[in-house]
Amino acid sequence: MNVKSRTNPPLRVAIVGGGPAGTACALRLQLLSTQLDRAVHVTIIEGKEFHQEQHYNQCVGVLSPPLPELLTRDLNVDFPSFLVRSPITGYYLHTPGAEIALLDEQPSMALRRVQFDAYMLDMCRERHIDIVNARAVDLEFHDQGVLIYTENAPVPADVVVGAFGMDDGGASLFSRLTDYTPPDALSSVVTKYHPDQTTMKAFGSQIHAFLPPDPRIEFAGITPKGNHLTINIAGQDVASPLMNEFLAQPWVAKHLPNLGDAGRLNPGDLRFFKGRFPHASAHHYYADRFVMVGDASGLVRSFKGKGVTTAVQTGIRAADTILTQGITARAFHAHFRKANDDLIQDLPYGQLMRRITIWLSRTGLLSGIIRGAQTEPALHTALFGAVAGVTPYREILKDALKPRNLVAILRSMRRG
Ligand SMILES: Cc1cc2nc3c(=O)[nH]c(=O)nc-3n(C[C@H](O)[C@H](O)[C@H](O)COP(=O)(O)OP(=O)(O)OC[C@H]3O[C@@H](n4cnc5c(N)ncnc54)[C@H](O)[C@@H]3O)c2cc1C
Repeated sequence: MNVKSRTNPPLRVAIVGGGPAGTACALRLQLLSTQLDRAVHVTIIEGKEFHQEQHYNQCVGVLSPPLPELLTRDLNVDFPSFLVRSPITGYYLHTPGAEIALLDEQPSMALRRVQFDAYMLDMCRERHIDIVNARAVDLEFHDQGVLIYTENAPVPADVVVGAFGMDDGGASLFSRLTDYTPPDALSSVVTKYHPDQTTMKAFGSQIHAFLPPDPRIEFAGITPKGNHLTINIAGQDVASPLMNEFLAQPWVAKHLPNLGDAGRLNPGDLRFFKGRFPHASAHHYYADRFVMVGDASGLVRSFKGKGVTTAVQTGIRAADTILTQGITARAFHAHFRKANDDLIQDLPYGQLMRRITIWLSRTGLLSGIIRGAQTEPALHTALFGAVAGVTPYREILKDALKPRNLVAILRSMRRG
């Protein structure tokens, strides 16, 4: 029960999806309801069970600033530092012909995403938010409310928040009844490798990011996670044979010693998992009585993820709109959309950056730029900004296009 004793009936909010966006939205609603003295009843409908790692949400598990600050300041929840397996202190950016170290002054944290999701749902339970452990399977919009059918009991609500990530079933609930269209996405394959401790130590605490000339792979990464490395590739339509090809390339394999030695593999090694990243905004992601948050909204950084951080951000912003402005299309347009201007306005620049990077990788010109960045601070800063995702892409591009930097880029491309 999370109804507070007020004379007015509580506002009923149903949230489809208990990942970072859904749980952040629920926790924020609960916190604001106390601060604003408004009665709210929040129900999260989540189909997976994260305890005992029965199910998981696909993710490498690198959580970036300002996530800890968002949790403590806006949700009154401690960042679960006890779950951190490795601090991430920067990046190595690789092409087949060059590599560069890009150190980060604001480290990210690598953890097991399933444990983070379990923690956030536990925080919701602690705050007496109702959790229905079942999938939402249908919806009805009525003048007076919304009815969400689940594999368990139906959930009546005044407003529904779509926090179902890239789940096709979740998206189709809304696209059948509304103009909602889910965001365009890249596909990814993820796997794990447990090398020995000496190799893990030598690998260090940086993510190795790969930009291959192969047009089928847009980017790839190897991330240290305490006792193992997580390897991921992403592109329009990647699949397991492409991951095998990627792992066999000498400029990649040299960072994965003994991977080819089956006798040394852990039983969980080299099992492949598939996932999807949105890289554009969804269409019609709000209307009367519904709003999408997290991946379902496509309100993300379209080039370098930080997906969990932006999911939490959009979940918080939706909760703020619902409790302070209302649950109409007009309220979401005037407040929720505006609150996400930082993400929305940067999306076209992120797309442009993505296209430029793909073109540079495929033509081989990126290797020249990486070599140039070893001596040219402006190039180094631009590369770091692009890979770490800390600066808006508009600023990175504006900076890169300054005459002095353009000359440096062209010079390094010519030297190739
Ligand atoms: C391979 C890969 C690696 C990534 N690595 C990182 C990373 O290192 N760092 C980072 O910040 N981001 C990363 N991301 C992105 C990140 O995972 C997402 O941006 C983030 O999970 C979005 O959160 P969300 O709450 O919107 O959606 P999700 O985390 O997908 O949560 C959606 C939830 O909704 C539930 N659900 C869906 N449909 C229904 C339904 N019908 N009924 C009930 N429940 C439903 C699902 O079970 C799920 O729990 C990665 C993504 C991929 C694919």
